[in-house]
Parts: sequence; structure tokens; C-alpha cells
Amino acid sequence: MLLHFIFVIKDKDLGLRDAEFEYIKKMAKFFKSWIKTKFSIDIEIQCDEMITKPRIILQRLDTHSLLKDHVERGEDIYHFYLCHFRPLWTDCTCEGYHAENFGMIRWEKPKEEMDELFLAEKNCTAVSHEIAHELLRQSGYKRYVEDVHEVWQKHLFGGIEFEQYGEDFEITSEKPSFLTMNTDLFTKKS
Ligand SMILES: [Zn+2]
Repeated sequence: MLLHFIFVIKDKDLGLRDAEFEYIKKMAKFFKSWIKTKFSIDIEIQCDEMITKPRIILQRLDTHSLLKDHVERGEDIYHFYLCHFRPLWTDCTCEGYHAENFGMIRWEKPKEEMDELFLAEKNCTAVSHEIAHELLRQSGYKRYVEDVHEVWQKHLFGGIEFEQYGEDFEITSEKPSFLTMNTDLFTKKS
């Protein structure tokens, strides 16, 4: 399986968000390792940037345009879009959306150019949320929507911490480079 991350940025931001794209490339490698550990699946990863041009309001870029892009690129590839806009409609409790072999989140831009902790807290966690939906669905887990949302609420409001991983992709109690949902809280019920 190929998991292809696509960083969707405005054309005026081209070249200005390289530090974030470098983080995305590291994060993709991290998720390869995380998916292997948590879901016992070997995946290949790829990362690219996609530039969007300013549009008139009627042609607003939305989830539909991304789904179309996903189909054109090949539906057998798991495409994951990291976007500058939120989905217009979603059943998710984060600013993301999932469908078969498809994920998207609104990628939040840090105030300072490189704030790794911000990226881990705001974006990496949401990526783990959408990946959990899709990989649980693929494994035939019935409550792949509800259980992820239950655990997500516990992370946000129930005092259960996100899992913290260091630069070496191992669990750490030091300042983390990557944060994810704790999959133990639902995989044990399957
Ligand atoms: Zn969700």
C-alpha cells in the first residue's frame, strides 16, 4: 500500500512553507513506522506539494475537488491531503474528513516558521485520527467511526494524553516530535 501525503498550499505561499514541508516528510516516515507497529501493515510513503490558485467563490476549493484529484491520481493509492482549508462538511470531530483510501485535514500553520510542538499537537494528532478511521475500516472493525471519536474526546477532554514520540519514532517523555491518538484504547475491543 502506498500512503501519499499531499501538502496543499496557496501559490503565493510557494517557497515560504518549506520548513513545514520538511516536517511533513519526517512525519510521513514516522507514520510508516507507527502504522507498522499499531496496525501491522507495511506501507510505502510519498510526499508532494500541490499548489492552488486563487479562485472565484463559486469554484471554491473543497473536499469534492480533492476527491476528484484522488480519483484522477488513482483510487488504489491512499491519498492524504494536508490543506489550508477545512472540509465544508464532515462527520469528524476534528477538522478532517475520511473516505475510502482518502484522508484530509486542515493543516494549521504555526505562527513562527518552525514550531514543531505546535505541528505535533495540532496537525499530527489529526492525521492519526483520520488514519485510524481508514485503517480500522480496512481491517473490518465495525465501530471505526464511533470508537475513534470516543477516544478523541477522551484525549481532548478526558485527561488521557496523546502518545508522545521522539525524533527516533520511539515513545518519549521528553519534548515530542510527533503526537498520536492512543490506539490501544480501541484496538483491544476488536
Ligand atoms: Zn473522525
